[in-house]
Amino acid sequence: MKDEKRDILLLSPEEIKQFLESNKEKSFRASQVYEWLWKKHCRSFEEMTNISKSLRDLLSENFFIQSLKPATVQVSKDTTIKIAFRLFDGALIEGVLIPSEDRATACISSQVGCNLGCEFCATGKLGLKRNLSVGEIYHQVVELMLLAKGKYNLSLTNIVFMGMGEPLLNYNNVLKAIEMISSDKGLGMSPQRITLSTVGLPKMIKKLADDSIKFHLAISLHSANELKRSEFMPVNDTNSLQALKEALIYFNKKTGERITFEYLLLNGINDSIPDAKELAEYCKSFPVKINLIEYNSTGNPKFNKSTSKNTDAFFSFLKSRNLIVNIRRSRGQDIDAACGQLAAKK
Ligand code: SF4
Repeated sequence: MKDEKRDILLLSPEEIKQFLESNKEKSFRASQVYEWLWKKHCRSFEEMTNISKSLRDLLSENFFIQSLKPATVQVSKDTTIKIAFRLFDGALIEGVLIPSEDRATACISSQVGCNLGCEFCATGKLGLKRNLSVGEIYHQVVELMLLAKGKYNLSLTNIVFMGMGEPLLNYNNVLKAIEMISSDKGLGMSPQRITLSTVGLPKMIKKLADDSIKFHLAISLHSANELKRSEFMPVNDTNSLQALKEALIYFNKKTGERITFEYLLLNGINDSIPDAKELAEYCKSFPVKINLIEYNSTGNPKFNKSTSKNTDAFFSFLKSRNLIVNIRRSRGQDIDAACGQLAAKK
């Protein structure tokens, strides 16, 4: 029974070796098994063709491989693809492939749902069902990588943890998955191509700094005003902007890394010049890059996309303060694949 079996992707090479030795199997097989799991990303023990049938049976009697099955695939008119993945327990998560001329970005999930309840976000309405395992995170990347190659003949160049869930609330699994995505024993991608996006949990950001991470950090800021941010991001009540600023100063001092702020422009809520002034002020303590993001409706009438006039004025104000700022146009809106829209509706 699966419940009694263990997730083999949680085992280190040494642990696989010990398992083989204790079952009177040759220990050199451990590196072959490990290679099948992480480098050749097999989905079942049957695929391990250079391993004897008896060893494959032994492995499948004791372990399972946590892979995902694509449940639905939606292709946007702008070529963005959203996949809903069915997990072993029936839960659904979503991942998005965003191709462009010469690169492809995978936006992946870290949890089934999310319990932080940001009001503008469709995922926040689902509540949290559970954390994703290392294998479930890793296999989303594998599936999107194969899709990028098969459908658009593109290599996967970037990964962003901006799908469903708050990655820092699934810290160990997310970091282990990133380790394998960037390891030569796994997908061998540069950590500089990976961005973890968080609402900004000060304690966990300090932990990232102490763990000397090599990937990029992005903060979903959306307002630099304490009261305003708390109104639509309840997480701000217990993780204030002030505490976040202190954590980011610590992070920057320890890693030397620039911080990216993601800022959804919401009409009449956070898109005025006084809002831009507060944001510029907040950015004074560390080097930053600001991404202004076009909002996509999630059905809540309170939130609407900022007008082009306000967006341009906001952008120009930040530029006049010598800040690095980009406007990010949405992709995949017609299939609900854009920022904040992932909710596994299908
Ligand atoms: S924006 Fe992120 S943290 Fe907030 S509810 Fe949505 S998934 Fe959760």
